[in-house]
Amino acid sequence: MGAAPEVEIAGALLDTLVRRAREAAPRECCGLLIGTGPRVASVVAARNVATADSRYEVAPEDHFAALRAARAEGLAVIGAYHSHPSSAPVPSPTDLADAVAEFLYLIVGLVPAAEVRAWHLVDGNFVPVGLVRT
Ligand SMILES: [Zn+2]
Repeated sequence: MGAAPEVEIAGALLDTLVRRAREAAPRECCGLLIGTGPRVASVVAARNVATADSRYEVAPEDHFAALRAARAEGLAVIGAYHSHPSSAPVPSPTDLADAVAEFLYLIVGLVPAAEVRAWHLVDGNFVPVGLVRT
């Protein structure tokens, strides 16, 4: 199965991600994306248990809670989001090293301006995914 060419997400959810990124700065915020196929239905905040400011690591218990919440709604955890408080929404080498296939990655960049971009891992590299604001 190939990566979806684009993903739908409500504008209100994108606004929520930008707000969480600003609140967490200078640390990165992170969380899980719940949905089905090419649509993000909700964004679940998770604790970032990474010790460095420029890293993120979803708290395992928050990941499990998101899995349960998704299952209860007949949905799935389809990806994760995190922020780049002082750079653009482009995956870092660390992001690439930690990435898993079949997951959708949303990155919120705050510099030079707030912007959310979507990425998929394909053959070991991140490729951009179109983000359709609904
Ligand atoms: Zn990153």
